[in-house]
Amino acid sequence: MENIQDIINIGKNLYNKDLTVGTSGNISIKTDKGILITTSGSVLGNLSEKEIVLIDFEGNEQENKKASSEKMLHVEIYKQRSDVKAIIHTHPEYLTTFACCHKALDEPIMSENIIYFEDIPVAPYAMPSSLELVENTVKYLKNRDVVIMANHGAIAVAENLEQAYLKMETAEYYAKVALNTKILGGARYLSQNDVQNLIELKKSKL
Ligand code: 13P
Ligand code: ZN
Repeated sequence: MENIQDIINIGKNLYNKDLTVGTSGNISIKTDKGILITTSGSVLGNLSEKEIVLIDFEGNEQENKKASSEKMLHVEIYKQRSDVKAIIHTHPEYLTTFACCHKALDEPIMSENIIYFEDIPVAPYAMPSSLELVENTVKYLKNRDVVIMANHGAIAVAENLEQAYLKMETAEYYAKVALNTKILGGARYLSQNDVQNLIELKKSKL
């Protein structure tokens, strides 16, 4: 089972790959005892044990530290997705650019990413840390593992932290490539048939 040290390491990886900036973002894992989550205002690239707090499955702090302001988003995702054991929310540059423009990553341009994500939708805007944000975002995470949060950032969920990290890294790369295609006059889209074949290929691998 992943532990506090894994959260610290993933925070460093996010920072080293430019997937987090300043005090933005939060990380959590689900454990037998509750949810381990970063404290509010922590710098993900420079976490220590004191910036990680245990909360129960209703979001109540079990220690005298203030959990992330997005703790209820994490709590609700764990409630609704029993397969999810790790969550990363950050504001990576390119995904956040898409978030600010309310643009989903849904153009059929990269075969690998169609297999990996199908698409990355945009959840409607709501105030950071609000229950409305929880509601808006969780809806989109029912059948997707990465979602762009309008005018805010992105969230990736997975069965462990490493997978959640890889999803965020790959999503950010996808956003970069999608934006770059605009510079070259627009991507050549895969046909509907090609897309269908990729989805079939994914199903056959499951
Ligand atoms: P916290 O530092 O409270 O986790 O908030 C960061 C953030 O990204 C809010 O959306
Ligand atoms: Zn945020």
